[in-house]
Amino acid sequence: MEKALKKLITKIRKAFKKLIITIRQALCKHKETEKVVENSVFKRISGETVYVRCKKCGKILDSINYEYEGLGYK
Ligand SMILES: [Zn+2]
Repeated sequence: MEKALKKLITKIRKAFKKLIITIRQALCKHKETEKVVENSVFKRISGETVYVRCKKCGKILDSINYEYEGLGYK
């Protein structure tokens, strides 16, 4: 009985955290942005993705795909 309750509380907490992030992102004006290069284990061969992320709330505002041309990168 108590275990089920603990699980429920954890679930509610997680949902609450998500909600807070959503509200923060909704209220944020995204004035300060930074560019983040995709840090993936599965590196793309043909190029890379750069994300424009808000410094304040962490929301991804835009993503830019850079494609390598020719044989410059391997
Ligand atoms: Zn923001």
